[in-house]
Amino acid sequence: MTPDIDKSLERSQHWLKQNIKRYAFKKLEREIIKTGVCTECGTCVANCPVDAISGIREENKYVPTLTGKCIACGICYEMCPRTVTLTEDLIGNYRSAWKARSVDLDNNKQDGGVVSALLYYALKEEIIDAAVAACHSKDTPWLPEATTFLKPDEVLKCAGTIYTHAPIVGELMSALRVGHSAVAVVGTSCNLDGITQLQEHPGGTLNTDLRSSVLKIGLFCMESFDYNGLVDFLKTNDVDIGDVHRMAIAKGKFKVFTDESEKEWPVSDLDSFASTSCAYCHDLTTKQSDISCGNIGSGSGWTTVLVRTERGEHLFQEAAESGIIEAESLEAKPLQIIANVARSKAMRYYSMERSH
Ligand SMILES: Cc1cc2nc3c(=O)[nH]c(=O)nc-3n(C[C@H](O)[C@H](O)[C@H](O)COP(=O)(O)OP(=O)(O)OC[C@H]3O[C@@H](n4cnc5c(N)ncnc54)[C@H](O)[C@@H]3O)c2cc1C
Repeated sequence: MTPDIDKSLERSQHWLKQNIKRYAFKKLEREIIKTGVCTECGTCVANCPVDAISGIREENKYVPTLTGKCIACGICYEMCPRTVTLTEDLIGNYRSAWKARSVDLDNNKQDGGVVSALLYYALKEEIIDAAVAACHSKDTPWLPEATTFLKPDEVLKCAGTIYTHAPIVGELMSALRVGHSAVAVVGTSCNLDGITQLQEHPGGTLNTDLRSSVLKIGLFCMESFDYNGLVDFLKTNDVDIGDVHRMAIAKGKFKVFTDESEKEWPVSDLDSFASTSCAYCHDLTTKQSDISCGNIGSGSGWTTVLVRTERGEHLFQEAAESGIIEAESLEAKPLQIIANVARSKAMRYYSMERSH
């Protein structure tokens, strides 16, 4: 009789062959084994359906090695505990995905203006009594200043992206301290992870304070930049940061717009100015949020929106029904593009880990 585990292995391989991306062993070797990310657990060896991978001992190290013919089924890559392949691991769980933009709102939106439209709507309809997001410092151009907004119109003035860390969590606590209890907060994953810690840790302030309700609107983020580094980079390229009225990163290009010119560089030119903390982050889409927004996956002038929680869904749907936002369901292809970028961020973490 075939042992149960063999039957299960067959079942598993049958499912995997139908559902996963087909990669050759070479990909696992290049990204995980040769880079030293491999944990020597032997999962790839044990799951190869044609027994083409062997664990060879090299100087007392266990090295998965191709010793047979690879059929490029992708199972070794999929099952490896150090690769990230499942969409939910890459971009988190979500209830619905949209391509959306604001309608008839006068704001300097970054993409589709959905983030500021949601804050505007939530304040106008008194769903929240305050919103916390980043605005431009009055004294230092392009330095973000975490700000509490109480009026819908104020939010619109602070639309747009500032590519530097903003201390959002301290501002949120200040807003709660002065008596606001229903607050929407906008931030990248590093900001919102801090808030989640306060909400979920057994001793977290937002866990022990039952009066406060915080709605988290996440921004996709590949990386943010050191402020002084950004100023120097622009200066080297004959741009005074004080003259810049818009910055944007899309499709691998960093663009700055002044009254006189529009300049662009590959984002990789700014690698050395990325904030050092970004080396420890592998969350592109701000998984710990009620709603996440970014530009990857939707064309210019649109915001990609992942609605993750019931609370997020209430706000997004109500805003869409009011007509302040127009939204189309996001198709599978753009979602795959987002997952691919999220994977590249996760894999980059490995190479940064190696360089320490
Ligand atoms: C540092 C950074 C890096 C990003 N990288 C990517 C990326 O790689 N790929 C991608 O698809 N999207 C990225 N985004 C998100 C993207 O730039 C837009 O914010 C998003 O698409 C929403 O656009 P919108 O037009 O709907 O927002 P808008 O309506 O223009 O509103 C933007 C909101 O973001 C707030 N905000 C701006 N800067 C910050 C900041 N530093 N911290 C906290 N809040 C801020 C503003 O106060 C405003 O409320 C990044 C955002 C930031 C802040």
